[in-house]
Formats: sequence, C-alpha cells, structure tokens
Amino acid sequence: MSFSTVRDQSIALRFLRNALRLRRVPNALLFWGPGGVGKMLTALEMAKAVNCAEAESDACDTCLSCKKTAHGTHPDVTVIRPKGKTRIIKTDVIEMVAEMSVYRPFEGGRRIVVFEDADRMNEVAQNHFLKTLEEPRSETTFILVSEHPRRLLPTIRSRCQQVMFGSLSPETVKDLLLQTFSLPAEVAEAIGAISQGRMDRARDLVESDKRDIVLSVTQRLAAGEDAMVVGEEFSAHLSARNEALRAAVKEGAKEEAQDQDLGKDERDEMKQAVEAAAEAAIRREMLEYMYLFQTWYRDALVFGATQDAERVLNRDQVGRLMAEHGRMRPEKLGAIDTAWVYIERNLNRDRVFRDLFMTLAG
Ligand SMILES: [Zn+2]
Repeated sequence: MSFSTVRDQSIALRFLRNALRLRRVPNALLFWGPGGVGKMLTALEMAKAVNCAEAESDACDTCLSCKKTAHGTHPDVTVIRPKGKTRIIKTDVIEMVAEMSVYRPFEGGRRIVVFEDADRMNEVAQNHFLKTLEEPRSETTFILVSEHPRRLLPTIRSRCQQVMFGSLSPETVKDLLLQTFSLPAEVAEAIGAISQGRMDRARDLVESDKRDIVLSVTQRLAAGEDAMVVGEEFSAHLSARNEALRAAVKEGAKEEAQDQDLGKDERDEMKQAVEAAAEAAIRREMLEYMYLFQTWYRDALVFGATQDAERVLNRDQVGRLMAEHGRMRPEKLGAIDTAWVYIERNLNRDRVFRDLFMTLAG
C-alpha cells in the first residue's frame, strides 16, 4: 500500500508529502474532485502516513501504527461514512467527533478523522461541524472527502486546505479494471476511455448491463427494426429499473426508521430525503444512458472521418462504428442533446425516447 498505490494524482501527493516532511499537516483538509479517482484511498494512506513510526513522508506499512490504521483498529483514526440508503451524516455523529477531539490522542500522535462524502452532512450537522473547526485542536486533522464541495458551507470550505484531485488516465482505468475483473483487454480499454477517468463509473459499466443495452439498441436501430418498438421496450426496461431503484431506496430507509425512534418531523425529513435520493439515483441512470448513446454516435462520426481507433471511445467496436458512420447524420447528435435536456426537465420519458429513437433510426 502506501502513497504508491495512488495513481495519477501527483500534484495532490506532492502537497501531502511536503506537509508531512515539514511536519505541517493542516488541521483541516478538503480532498475534492470527481468520484472514483482515489480521494478516499489517499485519505486513508494519509491517515497512515501521519502516524507512521518509520517513514517520514509516506506510510511504511510495516510498523504497528500503519498496521492498525490499515485494519481499522487504530484508536486515533476515525472514518465517518454516510449511513443507510439516504446517506446522510447526521448531527449525532458530528457531536461524537466534537467530544472526541477534546481529548488528546491515545497514542500521542495525531488524531485523524476522515469524512467520506463530507457533503452528505445535512445543514444542522454542517453548522455543528463548523463550530468544531473554529476551535482547532493542534493534534487533530480532519480530512473531508467530497465530489460536490459546493454543497459544503463556504465557511467550512474556507477553513480547509483544499487539495484537488483530477481524473485518472484511460490507461490507469484500464489497468485497474484488468486487475479486478476478467475482461478482454479491448473491452477494458474501451471502458477506460468511456468512463472519463472515474473508476466508480468504469466499475458500474462493467457490472451493469447499461452498455450492452445501448449497444443492442443501436444495433437494432441500424438493422432497421421499428424504432417505436425499440423505444417502447427501452422505456419499459427503464421503468422497471426505476421501480427497482425506488423500492431499494425506500426499503433501506424503512429499516433505518425502525432502528431509530423518530419523531414526526424527523420522519417527514427522512421521507423527503428518501424521495430525493431515489430521484437522484434515477436521474443519474438516465443521464448515464444518454451519455452512452452520445459516445456511440459521436464515435461513428469521428471514426468515419479519421479512421483512427485512438480517437474513439468505443474502441472495441470499430467494425460496427464504420458501418454506423455510413448511416450517420448530424441530426442524430442534435436529437441526443435535445433528449438530454428533456430528461433533465423531467418530461415524459416514453415520449422522449420514442422521438429520439425515431431520429436515430433514420
Ligand atoms: Zn508505518
């Protein structure tokens, strides 16, 4: 392990190594950037490195402190994660953190508190946390990890040393996929290019059937199947997925509600949070489909014009892209943009996809 496992984040690592070497680790760090690029991994390695007994600006991975941190048993390293399906970090957790920071670290080093998805603190929790940040304790470092830093109060952001994380290279995503999944190399390469340097997206593309569905829809439309029928089937698939997503979020929330003795206001707040979480999950999935359609037709245009497989994302499909290029019209990309806007505005999805597929079939 150690910082050497973090890929493609040399600017962030240089900053952290410097802070360690100069023994000037800030009281609050905000690791921000896209999801699935190694922010949490870096935070955990940083937690190790800060208290490592051997190495100066990294984790040695062999001393007792490093081992305890790696196993999650170091008394001075706490990782806070959003809980349950609503994924909210609540005030009670922040109060626990505030209480803990009053005491000196057990092992005499530095206390590290990592917040995964720190922006999932609700507003009350953020205000509580701000108070803790305003009375910094020299022996505690908070590491806030966030894909959406703007959802944090500006007053919180301004008290953190910000560390930006960028996307991974397509080659890195390909390597990491091949380490985890048994995939043909050309598929891993295509997904590495499509996932925009984010491992969370890449993993989802491998584990879900989204890409297979998009490839099958484009294949059927290219073969001259009735666009109405293809559109209706696709809509039916989406509706079933939406129901499943909504049910999963609600079921998780019900369990959470049973675990806690909630008052009426809290139940209402929870209900709203559940609705919002389900809607967000559904919207993300729709937009991911739109993105995949966009990459396909964009690739058809680019490959036809350049014949250069390096320039396309769906690199494992160049034969089909060439055929698609023969039927390509610029209106198709325009229709995808329009459908994208309609879905963001929450218009009737059946109609949006029917209209879209009519244009894509032409
Ligand atoms: Zn160590």
